[in-house]
Amino acid sequence: MTPDYDAIVVGGGPAGMMAGLLFARAGCKVVVLEKHADFLRDFRGDTVHPSTLELLRELGLLDEFLKRPHDKVRSLTARVADRQITIADLSHLPVETRFIAMMPQWEFLDFLADEARRYPTFSLRMEAEAVDLVIEGGHVAGVRLKDGEELRARLTLAADGRGSVLRDKAGLPKKDLGAPIDVLWFRLPKQPTPTNETGGTFGAGTLVVEIDRGDYWQCAYVVPKGAAEEIRGKGIETFRADVRRAAPDLGDAVDTLEDWDQVKLLSVSLDRLERWWRPGLLAIGDAAHAMSPVGGVGINLAVQDAVAAANILAAPLASGGNLDPLLEQVQARRLFPTRVIQAVQKAVHDRVLTPLVVRRAVLQKVPLPLRLFERFPILRRIPARLVGLGVRREHIRSPDAGLRR
Ligand SMILES: Cc1cc2nc3c(=O)[nH]c(=O)nc-3n(C[C@H](O)[C@H](O)[C@H](O)COP(=O)(O)OP(=O)(O)OC[C@H]3O[C@@H](n4cnc5c(N)ncnc54)[C@H](O)[C@@H]3O)c2cc1C
Repeated sequence: MTPDYDAIVVGGGPAGMMAGLLFARAGCKVVVLEKHADFLRDFRGDTVHPSTLELLRELGLLDEFLKRPHDKVRSLTARVADRQITIADLSHLPVETRFIAMMPQWEFLDFLADEARRYPTFSLRMEAEAVDLVIEGGHVAGVRLKDGEELRARLTLAADGRGSVLRDKAGLPKKDLGAPIDVLWFRLPKQPTPTNETGGTFGAGTLVVEIDRGDYWQCAYVVPKGAAEEIRGKGIETFRADVRRAAPDLGDAVDTLEDWDQVKLLSVSLDRLERWWRPGLLAIGDAAHAMSPVGGVGINLAVQDAVAAANILAAPLASGGNLDPLLEQVQARRLFPTRVIQAVQKAVHDRVLTPLVVRRAVLQKVPLPLRLFERFPILRRIPARLVGLGVRREHIRSPDAGLRR
């Protein structure tokens, strides 16, 4: 049967939208399928790091992107044992964009969708949920949607996130690295401030991350994995008191938490596929390697995967070449950065979050590595480099077929 598309991208997250844009730019006929009706969901991180900003610059899109509402964050801080400590200083990065753009992720995805729509070979279908693969002779030939419709393509990209259905349907083996935490996610009102105040508060057996979104805090209250039910069972008043104790700076805003409907559970996973592909299909982003929120790097790693996939596959896909021998090259390219970042996240899980949140250790004083950041500010450039630019940074090498309207 003739394929409907060159590529079907399942999932309109950072990986899927960037892949859709780049494959369309290279002249491929591509559809992105997103199961939700819009991008306006709150479980997404907000951090667009220098590695992604530089890619937008390479695409000539950075100025337009920065017209969207955002705050520039040039350093990352944490409140530990009542002290404010700078743990990463991005102002020395060897790139032009030496800041993290804090932008609600729906703006970022909306921007990518608008840019992708400028290419006549791009389409985005919302409320289109893929539930199964179409497999012909062992080759993935497309996907089946919830309503039974079948779509066919020469390449299917599984960019459907950490709960990926497609990676399971494709039978790709997975290695679970374990995650000791979950996150309770809620908003609290705040007064707008001249600078973005995003930060984390380490308390007595607690950690709260406060993302500054102008007139409200998006808060991540970190809990031991599986503990959410017990916390809910104790009632919202007890939870309010716990949050107040964990992050006193939030003050009376905590009183606006009146109902559990305001608090969402985000399950954290850390895993990666042992094989990211099978003939006709490639997994990228969290579908290939679910990332912990530690370091806020998952979005950017997902974007880098999309760029690597387009660099290796877009030209042969556009010219009708055989992609199957190339799929493993994408995995080979992206496995190293994934391993490095996941190893760092796992170390933070094991050495910081498990003692703090699971064993409820009380930090009497600032831990040594953090004291070193205070004593030798030059050290703050190391986490800045890892978080801001990552490892084995990608550049746009996929072709531009010149179809932009
Ligand atoms: C609590 C928490 C906070 C985080 N905070 C940050 C942060 O601040 N910064 C950061 O960089 N990273 C953060 N991360 C990690 C980050 O969210 C992920 O690494 C990143 O979103 C991965 O992008 P993705 O495109 O691969 O997947 P996703 O962002 O998960 O996108 C997948 C998309 O596919 C859609 N989809 C799923 N299944 C189907 C289907 N069957 N059919 C059609 N569509 C489907 C989903 O609706 C979704 O839109 C956080 C993670 C967690 C758990």
